[in-house]
Amino acid sequence: MTTCPRCDRTITPTAINCPHCQLVLKAHGHPGMTLHRAKGETFLCDTCTYEADDTCNFPKRPTAKTCTLYQNINALPEKSAKEIYAVPWWRKINKFWAGMIVLVIVSVIITVL
Ligand code: SF4
Ligand SMILES: [Zn+2]
Repeated sequence: MTTCPRCDRTITPTAINCPHCQLVLKAHGHPGMTLHRAKGETFLCDTCTYEADDTCNFPKRPTAKTCTLYQNINALPEKSAKEIYAVPWWRKINKFWAGMIVLVIVSVIITVL
């Protein structure tokens, strides 16, 4: 369960508004669009990746207190699909050719003996 950033009471992760204090938690009323909020007197842009690489063109920059695109620059980079779905080397071996190599090795051993 997550908690409301204003009243600190328990809310469901998909809640659009806090049922207790009515704080807006999702942007545009869409449960999948998180509305990030700055804490205290800080601005989100101070720790945002798009501020650091100068690619943000939002009008609220550099003093955004709420933003839907905020990316924390200190967050660990997301894993690529290749890292998530990594296939071990032994599963990449073609079974036919592996069988042929084993057959040749066994044939050579039998011939030598
Ligand atoms: S994406 Fe949002 S938080 Fe990030 S720099 Fe732009 S306005 Fe600021
Ligand atoms: Zn609340």
